[in-house]
Amino acid sequence: PVDRSDEVQAARLRLPILAEEQQVMELINEHPIVIVAGETGSGKTTQLPQFLYEAGYAQHKMIGITEPRRVAAIAMSKRVAHEMNLPSSEVSYLIRFEGNVTPATRIKFMTDGVLLKEIETDFLLSKYSVIVLDEAHERSVYTDILVGLLSRIVPLRQKRSTPLKLIIMSATLRVSDFTENTRLFKTPPPLIKVEARQFPVTVHFQKRTPDDYVAEAYRKTLKIHSQLPEGGILIFVTGQQEVNQLVRKLRRTFPYKPDKEAKQQPETKQPAVELEQQFELKRVMRNLRKSKKKFLAQISLPSINLDDYKLPGDDTEADMHSDLEGDPEDDLDVGDDDDELQLDDDQQLSAPGTKQPLWVLPLYSLLSSEQQNRIFEPIPEGCRLCVVSTNVAETSLTIPHIKYVVDSGRQKTRLYDKLTGVSAFVVTYTSKASADQRAGRAGRVSAGHCYRLYSSAVYNDLFPEFSQPDIQQKPVDDLMLQMRCMGIDRVLHFPFPSPPDALQLQAAEQRLSVLGALEATAKNSTSSATDKEKELPPAVTQLGRVISRFPVAPRYGKMLALSNQFELLPYTVCLVAALSVQELLVETGVQRDEDVAPASNNFHKMRLSWANHGQYQLLGDPMVLLRAVGAAEYAHSQHKLDSFCASNGLRSKAIGEVRKLRVQLTNEINLNVSNVESLCVDPQLKPPTESQARLLRQILLAGMGDQVARKVPLDEISDKDERRRLKYAYNCADMEEPAFLHVSSVLKQAKPEWIVYQEAYELQQGDSSKMFIRGITAIEPEWLLVYVPQ
Ligand code: ADP
Ligand code: MG
Repeated sequence: PVDRSDEVQAARLRLPILAEEQQVMELINEHPIVIVAGETGSGKTTQLPQFLYEAGYAQHKMIGITEPRRVAAIAMSKRVAHEMNLPSSEVSYLIRFEGNVTPATRIKFMTDGVLLKEIETDFLLSKYSVIVLDEAHERSVYTDILVGLLSRIVPLRQKRSTPLKLIIMSATLRVSDFTENTRLFKTPPPLIKVEARQFPVTVHFQKRTPDDYVAEAYRKTLKIHSQLPEGGILIFVTGQQEVNQLVRKLRRTFPYKPDKEAKQQPETKQPAVELEQQFELKRVMRNLRKSKKKFLAQISLPSINLDDYKLPGDDTEADMHSDLEGDPEDDLDVGDDDDELQLDDDQQLSAPGTKQPLWVLPLYSLLSSEQQNRIFEPIPEGCRLCVVSTNVAETSLTIPHIKYVVDSGRQKTRLYDKLTGVSAFVVTYTSKASADQRAGRAGRVSAGHCYRLYSSAVYNDLFPEFSQPDIQQKPVDDLMLQMRCMGIDRVLHFPFPSPPDALQLQAAEQRLSVLGALEATAKNSTSSATDKEKELPPAVTQLGRVISRFPVAPRYGKMLALSNQFELLPYTVCLVAALSVQELLVETGVQRDEDVAPASNNFHKMRLSWANHGQYQLLGDPMVLLRAVGAAEYAHSQHKLDSFCASNGLRSKAIGEVRKLRVQLTNEINLNVSNVESLCVDPQLKPPTESQARLLRQILLAGMGDQVARKVPLDEISDKDERRRLKYAYNCADMEEPAFLHVSSVLKQAKPEWIVYQEAYELQQGDSSKMFIRGITAIEPEWLLVYVPQ
């Protein structure tokens, strides 16, 4: 029996889900898999584990609950422990590298990434009697993968007569991907709706949609606090830095001055996870060092040491990014720290119209849990509550006493370039569904108001209805490598709730093998088709594990992984950034398909001069990119970027994108590494030395080993016309027809025998089509043995 305090008991009775305890539990007892949908705040996360506990599910095995967000896992375990009057040794949490789980743990909250890891070592999840996948509507990659895995684990456990229950919880009724996907669940699992009382929320749109939503949020909050009756305010912005800025401003404007005791503590920047992250990477690094230094003797030095995948500042060896837990808003805040001044101005403009202090609290994922918990603690006498939050407060945590919501309508997401797979954190509009969730936060205690800092036209026209599942937004090479690193061997046959494209998955596996991230596939195996089915797919290599830590497409990850030698990293970072941004060089007057000299010879000459020095020339088009970025950055520092770009055929917006990417990549490499000076973005990066340029060619080959081409041997062709036609033609590895050097290539005159190219593409010319290759670098044929696996 659970011994709850009267206060807790009273609070529970107010939660909608409590009225349905019997119904919910009957359904769960009768079905192996159940979906529970209910409004945020209806009591799903805090109450359902208690129902299960009281129904005896924790008697022999554990009750496991997964959350996509660390914040929620910690906060909910504490709340449930408190409500049940049990110690944290029994109601515990485990997030990656941190937790308080003990052998006595009965109820275990964890991030979805943690449960995935456990499946690697205990596929049947034999320690659990029930798994609750919370916040399934968020469609995080790991929760989606867990749904797929558990759809198989549950029947297996049934067969062994140690049944496992699966409960999928969602804050929305949009669950058809789970209920109607027969590959996932042959019989659709029953759905129970928790009817929640929701008070009406009046939604106010703005006439216009200001870009500076942080300043606008500040202004709106001033007004609400000065003019509107009692009730807590909840503000949604996109990231930790924005939250902290706004909190500082609001605190300064409406100071709360209690006795010294309660003085604001400084916000902690990093949680205590670092140490253990370092531990994890140490293991990986140790394994890496063990791998043999093969091939090295064969080539003349200096050359790239293929066994050297050290990250910069390797002494501390930390994880690049803990990708197993996706709290995107924490990962990076690139250069948005300059709103400060504008807000200061504002403060003078609109002096506070009230003397009532505002009790301002920040909320975001990386906040320490003591700090997080303050949103639930009593508000000091005479204050109004104001919580500034990232979208953590959208559905994961229900903040009490909220009557006003101020919604920026934005969120920080990690977007991937479809072509290159490079990701960047960008602020985008939320979906309509998210905006409506946020508005709903104002109607839990009484009728409320939601102030949207955008116009109804923007909402109608620019907000998508729903956000796409994360898994369909990630590039498949990346996803494939990550699932394989997680120990999921048959990605192709995996029952995704909403699957990524199968053909693409297959091609991704191939490319990863060529790259050396997966073991080479045995090509001419004579085994039958059924044997093939049983055959395990190629294993992940050590290099693959390092690559998977970089937030870029695996081929670029490999280039970065090999670049911590000979001071190459700044160049590789710059190159990877430049290669990733589309159309950096404008081809004025030249269509991609015209096999003629550029209309503006000037640009072409300029490019040639950027690349035309000895070894540089062999680096080819990437050298042009390096020099172009360098020169453009110099022009930028002289405030002449636009005219420089215009007269040299560069796209100035692309230069800005390259800069952001360089900052982002550099930050990710430096993240959690003590030796921070090891790498910074140097706007005036010196050209590489000749020896470095040669090494960069090797690195390009290592990353693009599947994109090698050899010049068509013209002296073996007797026909004169044919020789002329094939003057610029190359034979590429997987193509029957030769491809032609793109007209913009600085290597078009030199026509080196062996090359790697960045991109091949086909163009329709009349009835036939022609292949072109571009982004050309010359290589030495003997390097192929060393840098291209297989
Ligand atoms: P759901 O999961 O359905 O969104 P929850 O179970 O998270 O709902 O929340 C139920 C209620 O419990 C909410 O009113 C919330 O404010 C309250 N609550 C959650 N954590 C705490 C806490 N640490 N202190 C006080 N109340 C809390
Ligand atoms: Mg919840």
